[in-house]
Amino acid sequence: MSEKMLKFVKIGQQTPPKREVGNRKEDFNEIYKEFINIKASEQSSRCSQCGVPFCQVHCPLSNNIPDWLKLTAEGRLKEAYELSQSTNNMPEVCGRICPQDRLCEGNCVIEQSGHGTVTIGSVEKYITDNAWEQGWVNPIKVKNEKSQSIGIIGAGPAGLAAAEQLRKLGYQITVYDRYDRAGGLMIYGIPNFKLEKFVVERRTKLLEEGGIKFVQNFEVGKDATLEQLRKKHDALLIATGVYKAREIDLPGKDLGNIFPAMEFLTASNKKGLGDKVELFDNGTLNAEGKNIVVIGGGDTAMDCVRTSIRQKAKSVKCLYRRDKENMPGSAREVANAEEEGVEFVWLSSPKKFIGTNKVEGLIVDKIKLGEPDDSGRRKPEIQNDSNFNIKADIVIKALGFDPENLPKLFGCEDLQVTKWGTLKTNFDTMETNLPGVFAAGDIIRGASLVVWAIKDGRDVATSIKNFLEIKELSKEKVA
Ligand SMILES: Cc1cc2nc3c(=O)[nH]c(=O)nc-3n(C[C@H](O)[C@H](O)[C@H](O)COP(=O)(O)OP(=O)(O)OC[C@H]3O[C@@H](n4cnc5c(N)ncnc54)[C@H](O)[C@@H]3O)c2cc1C
Ligand code: SF4
Repeated sequence: MSEKMLKFVKIGQQTPPKREVGNRKEDFNEIYKEFINIKASEQSSRCSQCGVPFCQVHCPLSNNIPDWLKLTAEGRLKEAYELSQSTNNMPEVCGRICPQDRLCEGNCVIEQSGHGTVTIGSVEKYITDNAWEQGWVNPIKVKNEKSQSIGIIGAGPAGLAAAEQLRKLGYQITVYDRYDRAGGLMIYGIPNFKLEKFVVERRTKLLEEGGIKFVQNFEVGKDATLEQLRKKHDALLIATGVYKAREIDLPGKDLGNIFPAMEFLTASNKKGLGDKVELFDNGTLNAEGKNIVVIGGGDTAMDCVRTSIRQKAKSVKCLYRRDKENMPGSAREVANAEEEGVEFVWLSSPKKFIGTNKVEGLIVDKIKLGEPDDSGRRKPEIQNDSNFNIKADIVIKALGFDPENLPKLFGCEDLQVTKWGTLKTNFDTMETNLPGVFAAGDIIRGASLVVWAIKDGRDVATSIKNFLEIKELSKEKVA
């Protein structure tokens, strides 16, 4: 057996920190433990090659999972990597942060038969991390440069996947982003303990080395209008994500120390990246030694509670108005949070924030689940005279995101949106109502997943290529 075959699956750069707080677990091995001392080859050889690849069907990118598991089991890691990267622009990212329990792994035949899934995500991560180490991941080398240029607004996974696909075809690509770093929510939303920042940074560096131009700190709507960019490029892609935080309209909502989730997570991520973050350094956005209350039950809420634990909060409570079975967040994430000492206050809804100047606590109503509503989910109903108090030094609102008003923001009222504020696109081509302007990722789906953004980025790249080829042909005809 080769040395590579004997290599244990790595557990990521950020070793889980040691902790001793009350009766909590001493260290955070939860997301890593199943991989420790398990060889990638052993995991891969557990795949039964069942011939009915439900895992592949339930992967948004239709990754050829059975084949790269077989290659890994045989120690043919370079081929496994080549195959895995042929359908995915960032396999090492997806391997780390896809909710595999809802996608590939949740549909693994071995899981279905009660024997525990093949840990597909961790093998995918291993294959690609190993490829980086071996020097097999190289910048794009363009054979035939094309003169046509494409402007991409948004350097999140949708924009980056499209940029890579189009650059490979020889187009001139400029990516504009209002943040100071590329990566979108992969850099400032998703915490480092789930997705180490160096993983995102080495990807964007590779794209830059492949000839993609990045213009950071450039906000479309402020630094240029959409129309100006349309004139500058042969085609445009809008991949701006969704950032308008849903609000909570309760008495006391304007008290100090009540923050939207992204403010809290961005400060923590910036700090982790080595930036000076005044509001973190002066304690305002730092959970250390404080009673933290997070409102919400999705994956963003889980990231906030788990970040608070890592910042050494005194107590961390998560308020959710339904019960555990009806929580929108990944079951795996909830289990991780529970294991780390987060207290879930199920069936509870905030009624009022209390405090003078700064929040000091909340009055919370108890909830019971009533009859199913139009969506089929049981409706939360307040139980009369059931309220109780919770102490809080910081409250974090993690109630989800809506799209910003892009037509207004971009100074382009003609740009059509759906009733949810997402961009309206042609179902087949992903083109908006403005010719040559395409859209992809969360801005057309609503808040979703990195893997779906990558899928959109790849699909829209094909449409943009078709559009530009027709444009070029019609120019030739006129000439
Ligand atoms: C806290 C949090 C945790 C998450 N965890 C996970 C997870 O574990 N797994 C998972 O799969 N998904 C997760 N997601 C969802 C995932 O991050 C998104 O679905 C994905 O990043 C969407 O990609 P995108 O490219 O469409 O947009 P984004 O990643 O949001 O990128 C959009 C980019 O556009 C830029 N932009 C916006 N407006 C402008 C403008 N006017 N001018 C210039 N630039 C602009 C932004 O700065 C940003 O860089 C999480 C989301 C959040 C908020
Ligand atoms: S991209 Fe996500 S869903 Fe697809 S195989 Fe990888 S981890 Fe599974």
